Amino acid sequence: MSEQTYYGSCHCGAVEFEATLALDQVVTCNCSICRRQGTILGFTSTKKFTLLKGAENLSDYQFGSHNIHHEFCKTCGVKSFSKGVGPDGVEMRAINVRCLEDVDIDSLSPQKFDGASL
Ligand SMILES: [Zn+2]
Repeated sequence: MSEQTYYGSCHCGAVEFEATLALDQVVTCNCSICRRQGTILGFTSTKKFTLLKGAENLSDYQFGSHNIHHEFCKTCGVKSFSKGVGPDGVEMRAINVRCLEDVDIDSLSPQKFDGASL
């Protein structure tokens, strides 16, 4: 599967974005936040992510080592992406692919990521 540009949003539509990523390397994670939120995550560089609207409507939640900014919509509470720094020091976005339009979630084969052991 090659990279493609997807449109995504929170539930109420206050937050909209575009992200370019490949959906053949998505993960589910068993860490304390992912298991509660049920996210399926795809990763891309910040360069391939554009926030179209809603910057003022995002709230930033951090916990643990505070490496990751879990940004969610203040109105509907949906977390459509988060921001962090990858192992190579490059700023990354983790996209909740459940928030992308025109993606058949059931066609994806998420790898299990053991975030709980980190
Ligand atoms: Zn919203």
